[in-house]
Amino acid sequence: MLTVLRNADVFAPEPKGRCDLLVGGERVLWMGASLADLPASLAATIVDLEGMRLIPGLIDGHVHLTGGGGEAGPESRVPPPMLSRYTRGGVTSAIGVLGTDDVTRSTAELVVTARALIAEGLSAWCHTGGYHLPPTTLTGSVRGDIAQIDRIIGVGEVALSDHRSSQPTLDELLRLASEAHVAGLMTGKAGIVHLHLGDGERGLALIRDALVNSELPARVFNPTHVNRRKALFDEALSLTSVGCHIDITAFPVATDEDAWSAAAALSRYFESGAPRDRVTVSSDGGGCLPRFDDAGRVVQMGVGDSGALMETIAELLRDGAALPDVLPAFTSNVSRLLRLPHKGRIDVGSDADLVVLDDSHQVRHVMARGAWHVRDGVPLRFGTFEER
Ligand code: ZN
Repeated sequence: MLTVLRNADVFAPEPKGRCDLLVGGERVLWMGASLADLPASLAATIVDLEGMRLIPGLIDGHVHLTGGGGEAGPESRVPPPMLSRYTRGGVTSAIGVLGTDDVTRSTAELVVTARALIAEGLSAWCHTGGYHLPPTTLTGSVRGDIAQIDRIIGVGEVALSDHRSSQPTLDELLRLASEAHVAGLMTGKAGIVHLHLGDGERGLALIRDALVNSELPARVFNPTHVNRRKALFDEALSLTSVGCHIDITAFPVATDEDAWSAAAALSRYFESGAPRDRVTVSSDGGGCLPRFDDAGRVVQMGVGDSGALMETIAELLRDGAALPDVLPAFTSNVSRLLRLPHKGRIDVGSDADLVVLDDSHQVRHVMARGAWHVRDGVPLRFGTFEER
């Protein structure tokens, strides 16, 4: 099954100009200025993109693949997001995490959910553990899980500075990070500790202590939700100068909130002059998003969605940002940190995870591992139990 894409304005994420691409066997086989006509016997499908922008499929580095929530009683456990919830937002790779509920949710469930998404055409990995210590695992240790289970690339989201955390000590965090780091060395996997940051005043203090009190590389400590409090974001910015990669969450932010939206946070990140390859944006998809009334009562339960990534990109572009500046935080920066070599870039040999954008920065077509999942904004493929 060969597909020829003609006249694509390629952002790889760096601008490549007008290109033709040949896709086959889940990979980009060729890319260049003009592809000669193929023999008819190859029966290639030809799609003329007429100059529309082609970007790498987005990598959502923090998704509750099994569904998250559960913090407001058993009825608040979120069901797992189905296939087209990812693809219609241009997300072709997802990294699963367990959160607050790492008791009724398990690492085994996370791994098998990742495998189900792969069978349906997406790419997926996950972290072992969850908010708490000792971490929930499949083999009995974080090191064992990363070393033995193909899908598991790190540990997280381990909660810090949060009333729901296990209140980990410095020694406990160092032990955990060492497990992830060593297993990463053994396997070539990410080997990171993906750290959920809460609203607590202690902020990133424990990570700073860990960097001073160990030989572990800074990249092992990967804080997320760093835009949830403005002072926390400033702390995170300074951590990038010593080598940490920080993760911004694309959650909804009210105007009077002491938080930055993902678009505002990424703009501030660029303005600060921090290293452009040390920032990523994820959605917290599948997590529970309670909506409150003026009296602080929960009036509705929403669900975080991977579509928030593309909405953030569109917002930045509408505000005048340049696509090649914005894209790495959603693609190549993520694949580099997570050591996913065929992801996050459009290149010969990379996986054919491709998203076509229209003039208003909306997702027009999506290809995941060489197969069309969305055409003209409409999903073609659905999860096994997804209503269509
Ligand atoms: Zn979290």
